Amino acid sequence: KVVLGIESSCDETGVGLVRVDNSGAVELLADEVASSVELHARYGGVVPEVASRAHLEAMVPTMHRALRTADLRLADVDAIAVTCGPGLAGALLVGVSAAKAYAAALDVPLYGVNHLAGHVAADTLEHGPLPKPCLALLVSGGHSQLLRVDELASKITEIGSTIDDAAGEAYDKVARLLDLPYPGGPPIDKAAREGDPRAIAFPRGMTGPRDAKFDFSFSGLKTAVARWVEARERSGEAVPVADVAASFQEAVADVLTAKAVRAAEELGIGTLVISGGVAANSRLSALAAERCAAAGIQLRVPRPRLCTDNGAMIAAVGAHLLLAGSAPSSLELSANPALPVHTISV
Ligand code: ATP
Ligand code: MG
Ligand code: FE
Repeated sequence: KVVLGIESSCDETGVGLVRVDNSGAVELLADEVASSVELHARYGGVVPEVASRAHLEAMVPTMHRALRTADLRLADVDAIAVTCGPGLAGALLVGVSAAKAYAAALDVPLYGVNHLAGHVAADTLEHGPLPKPCLALLVSGGHSQLLRVDELASKITEIGSTIDDAAGEAYDKVARLLDLPYPGGPPIDKAAREGDPRAIAFPRGMTGPRDAKFDFSFSGLKTAVARWVEARERSGEAVPVADVAASFQEAVADVLTAKAVRAAEELGIGTLVISGGVAANSRLSALAAERCAAAGIQLRVPRPRLCTDNGAMIAAVGAHLLLAGSAPSSLELSANPALPVHTISV
């Protein structure tokens, strides 16, 4: 069966196509993404109205590109999956409305799915079915969470999350402090390669003995970087951008990997999946590989293209729902900007 996935929760319009057979294998057929990130760059963050309008313009062309890439026609589509939350209300509505229109016109089942389950499912497109259970570290522009995944289609439980900023958000804010462009992850990753990760001892948030074991905090780290940079500027010295970037990046990677490995050990889970835009970070994946190997944990990180928002990961959730025989959504489906992660399909 062919499942079409639509993603529009933030600033990427994504349309993906996957093929699923009864053995449970999910094959990636197409993954087309149109991003409005350049339109937001000069504001230093996503502007919701601009994002919604960009989705509206990109949706149908992106759909046609995906079908062309897969060499399929709309009539070949057996089911449609769409992100219905969490995300920006107006942006989500563009995808949900398009999905409902296509599902009604083609007379195929519609599945409203959770964006975060999509980020986890992305890995199945590269590395095959997930072992059960597995632990997922989801780190993106809007989220930083540790999830226990018992069943991709039906049981995901949050065991920890950020109490303030998301990891990607911290990257974006620190990039701004260093006069690096938005989004901040890639330029900080690049600058850090020339810097010393031990140059500055930035704080590791939420790692005290009384802090919740699996929660994160990145706002103190961001503030510490701001104070450090300000002090330098006041004293008239040049800011060593590469050292600040490397030291900041080390603090983020240290906390994320330490907590993820500890969670896997305490819950007795043998596989860790890292996904979301920040999973593309070179230091995070290197440190995770080191610590997982030492702890005997299998590490899975999808390629960067599948880590950031895309429609194929949403199609992959749809494929798992189809395999599990889950009930489709009604055509009354609406967007839920605050959809909780344990609600995998609506
Ligand atoms: P969400 O999925 O939570 O709704 P989002 O869609 O904005 O949020 P993604 O597209 O998955 O998130 O990820 C974007 C984030 O990833 C940005 O904050 C960006 O700075 C960060 N990022 C991208 N590449 C890297 C990298 N190499 N290192 C660190 N961060 C990165
Ligand atoms: Mg994005
Ligand atoms: Fe995302």
